[in-house]
Amino acid sequence: MKVMKFGGTSVGKPERMHQVAQLITKDAEPVIVVLSALSGTTNSLVEISNFLSKGDKVGAKKTIDSLEVHYRNFVKQLVARNDLQTKANAIVTEHFEFLNIILRISFSDALNKDILAQGELMSTKLFCIYLEERGIDHLLLPALEFMSIDANEEPQLLSIRTKLNQLLSQHNDKKLFITQGYICKNAKGEVDNLKRGGSDYTASLIAAAAKASVCEIWTDIDGMHNNDPRIVDKTIAIEQLSFEEAAELAYFGAKILHPTCIWPAQQENVPVKLLNTMQPEAVGTTITREAGSVGVKAVAAKDGIIAIKIKSSRMLLAYGFLRKIFEVFEKYKTSIDMITTSEVAVSVTIDNDTFLNDIIRELEPFGTTEVDKNQTIISIVGNEIEATNDVMKKLFDAIEEIPVRMVSYGGSHNNVSLLVSSGYKIKTLQLLNKGLFGL
Ligand code: ADP
Ligand code: ASP
Ligand code: MG
Repeated sequence: MKVMKFGGTSVGKPERMHQVAQLITKDAEPVIVVLSALSGTTNSLVEISNFLSKGDKVGAKKTIDSLEVHYRNFVKQLVARNDLQTKANAIVTEHFEFLNIILRISFSDALNKDILAQGELMSTKLFCIYLEERGIDHLLLPALEFMSIDANEEPQLLSIRTKLNQLLSQHNDKKLFITQGYICKNAKGEVDNLKRGGSDYTASLIAAAAKASVCEIWTDIDGMHNNDPRIVDKTIAIEQLSFEEAAELAYFGAKILHPTCIWPAQQENVPVKLLNTMQPEAVGTTITREAGSVGVKAVAAKDGIIAIKIKSSRMLLAYGFLRKIFEVFEKYKTSIDMITTSEVAVSVTIDNDTFLNDIIRELEPFGTTEVDKNQTIISIVGNEIEATNDVMKKLFDAIEEIPVRMVSYGGSHNNVSLLVSSGYKIKTLQLLNKGLFGL
């Protein structure tokens, strides 16, 4: 079994969907195809939800209507046969009727999740209609029947495996399965999702559950690049990464992968490949247990970071002090990304400010606190970085002019992290591209 995931741009135009149909019918092996929503759709659905949460029904209706026009036009070019056009339009009608009905009911978190699910539900159904036109035998596997998260919003791999295998075994005769990325059921049995960009996570979870031979992530770029191509002019694709390196890059901001999507594939040792739908012949990036080479491979940046410094000359060296501090973050389910300590202070970073005021209040008995918002973590990722000559020298020479707020080094063989004020992000990424990669 092979898993092939296609992101928003890969299915965002009718001709792209046609191309996806070609890519998924090349192998002899059975394939599970995971699809995102058409590009832009989830953003529009988020917008609709935001309007509704503020009680702005007029705004919501406007967005719903323009999204519907987009889908009607899409259908016109997706299939040629009249009966299939009618069938595709009926699906669009069904989902837009739902979106229009919710204008009349009161907004809730559960409703928000239902709204967000419409994109993947539509893209998969429309794609199946195109496969029908091409006469390609397939089966739509509804993700809501097997993909689930627990009360802590963690995917339940064991239950996903059991349910998925049950579904697959009922259809031994099929070779091509289509399913939705991103959407799942939560512990209350409601529709939920794996957070933005979550279709990559779906693909990796399915690959682990089905013990697939490979998990292919097809997108609009030829693999993981050494730096953020949206910010830095000259970037190059990396051919080989270890699971650890890829996980660090994803977690620290390389948008090509969902932040936590590597672990399921890694757990079952399923290779992950990043490939370009628009350029299928490009080698892409292969992610396996082996790093392939030693040294720095890429840098990534994660915005929206908050640094908290707790100063306490009396207590810092006392044993148990750090535990007490960490317990405050644990109580508010807020995870810490970076940590540095000195004799009189400890600094940590978080990326979720939902409970910031509560956390600061509860930290007060331990010392004085200082909060810096609008920070960015710049991560330098590679293999056996500490064993590579001159890395630290090159790194700090390159960013001589940048004020660095925190440095974290030695936590793993794969990462050096710097915290800078977000205003310095672009400059830092550009300087590192020159200093570390000579680009
Ligand atoms: P999809 O819709 O297929 O999931 P995404 O937009 O989520 O695609 O991810 C692909 C995009 O990630 C690329 O177009 C690129 O701009 C961005 N990106 C950010 N950092 C990197 C990186 N280090 N390497 C490759 N792409 C990156
Ligand atoms: N459609 C969802 C999003 O835009 C999930 C995904 O594309 O991975 O976030
Ligand atoms: Mg994505």
